[in-house]
Amino acid sequence: MTKIHNLGFPRLGENRELKFALERYWHGDIDQAALHATAAGIRQRHWLLQANSGLDLIPAGDFSYYDQVLDTSVMLGVIPERFGSSIDLDTYFRMARGQGRDGKPYRACEITKWFDTNYHYLVPEVDLNQQFALSGSRLFDETRELQTLGYQPKPVLLGPLTWLWLAKTTSDFNKLDLLDRLLPVYGNILQRLAYQGVEWVQIDEPILVLDLPIAWKNAFESAYNRLQSCPVKMLLAAYFGELGENRSLACKLPVAGLHIDLVRAPEQLTAVLDNYANHKVLSLGLIDGRNIWRTDLNAALATVITVRERFKGELWLAPSCSLLHVPIDLEHEDALDPTIKSWLAFARQKLTELEILRLAIGEPAAAEAKLIASAAAIRSRRESALIHNPAVQAGLAMIDGTLAQRKNPFPVRREQQRSKLNLPSYPTTTIGSFPQTPEIRKARADFKRGLISESDYVQHMEQTIELCVREQEKLGLDVLVHGEGERNDMVEYFGEQLDGFLFTANGWVQSYGSRCVKPPIIYGDVSRPKPMTVRWSQYAQSLTDKPMKGMLTGPVTILNWSFVRDDQPRSTTAYQLALAIREEVNDLERAGIPIIQIDEAAFREGLPPRQSHWQAYLDWAVRAFRICSSGVKDSTQIHTHMCYSEFNDIITSIAELDADVITIETSRSNMELLDAFIDFNYPNEIGPGVYDIHSPNVPTTGEMIALLKKAGERIEPDQLWVNPDCGLKTRQWQDVRLSLANMTDAAKALRLAAG
Ligand code: GLN
Ligand code: ZN
Repeated sequence: MTKIHNLGFPRLGENRELKFALERYWHGDIDQAALHATAAGIRQRHWLLQANSGLDLIPAGDFSYYDQVLDTSVMLGVIPERFGSSIDLDTYFRMARGQGRDGKPYRACEITKWFDTNYHYLVPEVDLNQQFALSGSRLFDETRELQTLGYQPKPVLLGPLTWLWLAKTTSDFNKLDLLDRLLPVYGNILQRLAYQGVEWVQIDEPILVLDLPIAWKNAFESAYNRLQSCPVKMLLAAYFGELGENRSLACKLPVAGLHIDLVRAPEQLTAVLDNYANHKVLSLGLIDGRNIWRTDLNAALATVITVRERFKGELWLAPSCSLLHVPIDLEHEDALDPTIKSWLAFARQKLTELEILRLAIGEPAAAEAKLIASAAAIRSRRESALIHNPAVQAGLAMIDGTLAQRKNPFPVRREQQRSKLNLPSYPTTTIGSFPQTPEIRKARADFKRGLISESDYVQHMEQTIELCVREQEKLGLDVLVHGEGERNDMVEYFGEQLDGFLFTANGWVQSYGSRCVKPPIIYGDVSRPKPMTVRWSQYAQSLTDKPMKGMLTGPVTILNWSFVRDDQPRSTTAYQLALAIREEVNDLERAGIPIIQIDEAAFREGLPPRQSHWQAYLDWAVRAFRICSSGVKDSTQIHTHMCYSEFNDIITSIAELDADVITIETSRSNMELLDAFIDFNYPNEIGPGVYDIHSPNVPTTGEMIALLKKAGERIEPDQLWVNPDCGLKTRQWQDVRLSLANMTDAAKALRLAAG
């Protein structure tokens, strides 16, 4: 009998109930009992929802008050010394947020992206003498909660190798040396679950889809050899990509079952079957846990039938990965176009798909009507006039080498830009946004709700721009910006004005802790009906003689922060976006804007898990950027900005973007991130961020001079710009004024010193 199961469910609740309870708890508005009650209510609701979808095994322990990696660290007793030794809920929140309820500040644990998702986990910290001890009982308690409801739990554990891989060491030593001490705790956990009557435990080891050094592969073998004596069955879950050269390792580990991702890597199926033993359980991840489109159930069924012919063991069906990365329920999205809505599936609908799939295997006749409906929805999506736009197709067909190529190479452009812009050495600028005050947010919200007229809104925004321009003039900045007051979010703002996008009312996805994002859905051909930013930039330029920088979000970032259609390659959607942004770039130039910044904040995070796939991504991502930026004259200066600047391994591609100026995040690493630029000899201009905008601290002129001198050791001073790390929208004006005044002073000091 084929079983269906799920790898994990979103935690915050359809209406983000957990988010609000957490934030109230942090503010001191509710007590711990109330927070726990909300959490227990959400868990129970989600379990019942999953049970009602007919799941044979329901995940437990996938819930979290903040993050599952942090939960694992705490369960293993890994609490950095600065947080003390108790493991209560407030310690947990201090690790996550740098603050408990008492408001006392701590250095929070680092936060970083979970594989290639937009979910962030808290980085475990381990030291040479790290000890491990089973701490807390949340996993066991939640497992019992689910058992009490009368269902078969499948507790979810982050595997020892993946947890260790993600950890950072506080001194220089080999993390794998800790494994001997770590495994007994995993042994204890498994023992205890077995004792509680658990049959199956899901152990997540997503690093099996990465390129692993040989020592780590060997460690997998020895670790699972040791754990196999535990009296539970282990389902090893590998997702987000293909097992690749870890395939035979994964297939041969002494565990009772293996889950593979057949959405991201359908082509790995045959090779897995070649390696896999018939007495084990094979779990097929057939429903996309990373995107929101309905599954082609007929295709999935065909896959299952093929597997059945070759594989005689027990077969399980599941989403490709945890459903954490999709919104919960499509049902209440009343404002969506009904046709488009019929193409979509959120977490709840995905579980229903799983149920249909199982029915179709056992009783094809019973499932027939549902399979036909699914096929009809898929066909409707492919054929719908809603998604096709002949003009966009014609535009794509015109893309050739010249479209992605500036007229002349950088040295020629630089001369023209220098004589046109006439900037001093060490030119100063900002990354785009200025503080989003409550008044700005209110004006936007009022306009959206129809409480104020368009002309009132425009007037309000123009006043905001004027204030922002005057402030920058007073500060003596060289290249000004309009401040981005009209933008709620750097992707949403553009998505709302482009065709081919739609927005949900409640399609929230957890980003970190209580923070959620509501990614736009790119469902059809992308085009730009009319200019999106020109009026604001043009107005800003009309107020000043200083050069105004137009601000756009780049195609790769829009793509990486959206749910993207899966009926064509991502590169094709990226090119469509690129053509739309290119029109905007050209319009800005025509409107007299001399400098245009195309932000690619999420350029690096789109890199696929395996290095062998990097180049293909980088090729189209670079091309998409260049399509946007190459329609302008040599004298128009193109900037780009990237937040993550660990560029060592992709520096050639960064250079191939051929932006005239790139501004990046470097201040927190003390300019060490610039090391990539030493050996490579980066040809164009660079603004290494000299002040960390994520901190409320005001940087001194001296600190910034020191950073710039450091940068000058790695990059020709002639190539350097002076700017903050990132946009200023989350900061307060009073800090921004002081910080930027110090920053412009630092630039002046360097000019003086240079004579
Ligand atoms: N231009 C954007 C801003 O200043 C860039 C934001 C970002 O890089 N995340 O807000
Ligand atoms: Zn940034």
